[in-house]
Amino acid sequence: MSLNHDLVVVGAGAAGMMAAITAARNGKSVLLLEKLSKIGAKLKATGGGRCNLTNTLDNETFMSHFGKDGRFMTPALEELDHKDLMQFFKKIGVESHAPDGYRVFPVTHSSSTIIDALQKEMHALGVEVLCSQKVESLEHDGVKVTGICTQTDTFQADNIIIATGGLGYPVLGAEGDGYPLAESAGHKVTELYPAMMPLKTKEKWGANCRADTIAKVELRVDMKKYKKLHAKGDLIFTREGIRGPVVLDFSREITPLLSKFDEVPLLANFTKGMNEEQIRSHFKNVLTKDPQQNTLDLLQTLLPESLSLELCKLAGIAPALSLSKQEGKSRDKLFKLLAWTPLTVNGHDGFKMAMITRGGISLKEIDPNTMQSKKIKGLYFCGEVMNLDGPCGGYNLQWSFASGYLAGMLGNK
Ligand SMILES: Cc1cc2nc3c(=O)[nH]c(=O)nc-3n(C[C@H](O)[C@H](O)[C@H](O)COP(=O)(O)OP(=O)(O)OC[C@H]3O[C@@H](n4cnc5c(N)ncnc54)[C@H](O)[C@@H]3O)c2cc1C
Repeated sequence: MSLNHDLVVVGAGAAGMMAAITAARNGKSVLLLEKLSKIGAKLKATGGGRCNLTNTLDNETFMSHFGKDGRFMTPALEELDHKDLMQFFKKIGVESHAPDGYRVFPVTHSSSTIIDALQKEMHALGVEVLCSQKVESLEHDGVKVTGICTQTDTFQADNIIIATGGLGYPVLGAEGDGYPLAESAGHKVTELYPAMMPLKTKEKWGANCRADTIAKVELRVDMKKYKKLHAKGDLIFTREGIRGPVVLDFSREITPLLSKFDEVPLLANFTKGMNEEQIRSHFKNVLTKDPQQNTLDLLQTLLPESLSLELCKLAGIAPALSLSKQEGKSRDKLFKLLAWTPLTVNGHDGFKMAMITRGGISLKEIDPNTMQSKKIKGLYFCGEVMNLDGPCGGYNLQWSFASGYLAGMLGNK
């Protein structure tokens, strides 16, 4: 089959659907190709099925969370920031809100609402959606794009948008197909790392603390060259290591280090940022009021019981005895552990469990004002396929929608 469209979009995720809608609203004939049998599979899984579609940060702060290349997003966010995105969804029938004043969800707290609305809008605009069509190659004459080939068909077009996502959670469609397509047009792809995922640790004692969520944990890398890397948030121990919001965010920094070193030593503060001195003075205050408290009870004024018991074991402390009856060496060790507990990351489950990909198509060869390739005319990129990744909290979807919107304008701002 050989058909002519103004635009072919590859990938029906957040970025690709937004690009298709934007172009169709501007009067373009649009074909959207999706390799899975249905659209928006990853979008459906976002936010635990609730879809944390954006957050309420101003653009400057938002971009700062993406690291040194964050400013690449400026033109896209100028076209579609979080307020515009909420307005966009309102117009297609989806009210959204930020119950905690920060993370934005559809009021239904169901990602299906988002997907249904996008699908309805595409239908109303006449976007042709073909599922079970895996794009395998890109056609260009060295100057401009000419078409795209799937396993069974060839589609001609003057404009092609690659919105194929990254490599994480491959069961949800994105398996890195966009990278060779971009390379075939002369683009570079950076190193790729799995990110936003649980981590495995050498220490296994945490398995006994699995039942508790530990709030406001601080994690930092205990390596001279990387001392600046740190993160704060809730942590949950697993059978094999650690997970929870702070781990998801921190894993973006850890997986590149793990590819260089076999192990990454971390220090964890489970006492909401208290240092040794503050912990000693806190215990002194508690004991002044209740001198009979044993060490376990004392520790439980700061930590869950399970973690208190494990730290006692590590320090060689008898939990049922009062602090004054412990050996001096063990007591000192306990205070050190309470200030900074060592944990050693030694693995992860790879892209299978990675919510996002760190790395992607190099930004150097993409025009941030249009998302168009600087190498081949008519070739555009949007979403996670590019080398930008943000933390948890609606960052990655906002970026996907905003870049999709800008790409869909096909340079006509
Ligand atoms: C479990 C989970 C929860 C998440 N929760 C959130 C959240 O709450 N908030 C947030 O901001 N971010 C979240 N993220 C990250 C966010 O979902 C992604 O960054 C975002 O969806 C990327 O959008 P995209 O359109 O670029 O790519 P994708 O959504 O991955 O879409 C790419 C599409 O392209 C298709 N495709 C790939 N190759 C081809 C090909 N060769 N031919 C045709 N089609 C192809 C894929 O099947 C897929 O449908 C989460 C991720 C996961 C895995």
